[in-house]
Amino acid sequence: MHNLSIGALMRYASRNPSEKPILQVLTIKPMESTTGDQLRYRMQLSDGKHFLRSCILGTQLNYLVADNSLQDNSIVRIERAFCTDINRQIGKLVLQVQDLTVVAQSVKIGNPISLQINVDQRNSTEVLQAHLVSEVSASSTGNRHIINAPNKEVTAFGQKPNRIFTIDILNPYQNKWTIRARVANKTNVRTFQNTRGNGKLFSCDLMDETGEIRATAFGDECDKLYAVLEIDEVYYISKAILKSANKQYNHLDNDYEMTFNHDTEIQRCSEPTNIPTIQYHFTPINEIEQKQANSLIDVIGIVKSVSNTQQIVSKQSNKEFTKREIVLCDQTASINITLWNEQAEAFDGSTQPVVAFKRIKLTNYNGRSLSVVNSTNIKINIDLREAHILRTWFDNDGYNVELPSLSILRNAETNPITTDNEFKTLGQIVDENLGINNRVDYIQVKAVCNHIKKDLTVYTACPNVDCNKKVIENGDGTFHCEKCNKDYNDYRYVYMAQCEISDVTGSQWISVFGTQAETLLGVSAEQFGNAKYGDDEGLIKIIIKAQYKEKIFRLRAKVETYNNENRLRLTCLRVQDVNYVKNAQQIIKDISRLFTT
Ligand SMILES: [Zn+2]
Repeated sequence: MHNLSIGALMRYASRNPSEKPILQVLTIKPMESTTGDQLRYRMQLSDGKHFLRSCILGTQLNYLVADNSLQDNSIVRIERAFCTDINRQIGKLVLQVQDLTVVAQSVKIGNPISLQINVDQRNSTEVLQAHLVSEVSASSTGNRHIINAPNKEVTAFGQKPNRIFTIDILNPYQNKWTIRARVANKTNVRTFQNTRGNGKLFSCDLMDETGEIRATAFGDECDKLYAVLEIDEVYYISKAILKSANKQYNHLDNDYEMTFNHDTEIQRCSEPTNIPTIQYHFTPINEIEQKQANSLIDVIGIVKSVSNTQQIVSKQSNKEFTKREIVLCDQTASINITLWNEQAEAFDGSTQPVVAFKRIKLTNYNGRSLSVVNSTNIKINIDLREAHILRTWFDNDGYNVELPSLSILRNAETNPITTDNEFKTLGQIVDENLGINNRVDYIQVKAVCNHIKKDLTVYTACPNVDCNKKVIENGDGTFHCEKCNKDYNDYRYVYMAQCEISDVTGSQWISVFGTQAETLLGVSAEQFGNAKYGDDEGLIKIIIKAQYKEKIFRLRAKVETYNNENRLRLTCLRVQDVNYVKNAQQIIKDISRLFTT
């Protein structure tokens, strides 16, 4: 026989839930839904002496009913629950059960009677006053979920002292609350049409230490509040309407969502708080394959390339959309991402930024790809450890690495995925201070290579292809790699060409590595190395052949500091022959732009 926590329901009614009582489920039944919401269960819970008719099981616990572990007469330990009054229904308390553990199955214990409560609504503004009909409880009115706001914050709120509720206890049965929450995400304003005419709305995701909740504003409130609420800022929010979350559109971990109305009060909180900023759980790109289609995931990567925007017409709605595809990569793989409408228009990937996506949707489109949805939060060049690691990796080495792609690049002709970096002259690199202040600029120049330092073009590297470290001759015919800490019988040649390129505005030295040097010089590093240590004539022939030809160089510009001296470092990311037709078209476009602006 189990001992029930006699009197526990009464203590809940007087709002003292700092215990984990053992209760018995007398009955559990699905609630009648009028809105087609998720299935919800109502229980009658008994403490042996009293029972409460309206105890609502949090939908996250529905599985306990599904697998039959929670049923009539189950003995449960309430891990987390709170009592609320139902507005306008005097005398009715509801116990919201957020977490419980099934302890045992049993037969009905005792003869509990219904708990009768009289809620004095006049006093319900600050504290819910609950009185038992027979015995008035004198228990504390404290609730661990309600934090007394320090005076300073109350002043900031500009009102009489108020209590700050946490997001995890908000519910439709209690509307006297104020939350303090960070705007984690905000959608653009969207318009819609229904039978009553045109409407508009925006949503934002609010978060505090305990949870998150979606809030939406329509019409006038949309106009009024869109500019007020800024992403990442913290606000006091009160007097909004709560209702069951529409899980079809709302993927936040909350059974409820909020609608701002004309009574809603929002005030910026300028004091420091402990409310976390966005929490990411990044999935490495090569592990996305194992995730379920249509799930929402967090991804961070470098924008490897970006397509132009495209207009497409939805077959279903006949509406026109703008889309833009980007290829995002990390150290493991790459994947295509589709951006839509305003975000597609506004996205600038030309500097190959690090982008963090919170809640981006995984689809099976073209293999595997990701699609930005309403709840997706996009952060460009975010100050995160992961972002810095990616940046360093990409700028040093990663830009050159061939990565497996999870997406099939369909119809590359009509939807070119390219990084169309701006064309600059070599003079502009200096005039416009490219690459200063830790910035990395990516540009294209049309220039002629007029000098290649033949002695420095290749070096003898560790034969381990992942290493690239220059080896030291041991003198006995073996070679030592300091990085691998190993001796080898052999080495290989690796390109590290120093070339001077010129156009009419000036000249610059650039570094050309790997396959790009191969493209520029027309021979492999091995062939170049053999020529270098063979006859001088062969080497000169190779170099002369590579010089004095106009090429398109895609460059990365970064000012680096050596011995307190700033030096512009230009790395060649791509060498291409000039496509004169395309080049002429570009020049015509540039000229015509001069006349239109
Ligand atoms: Zn090595």
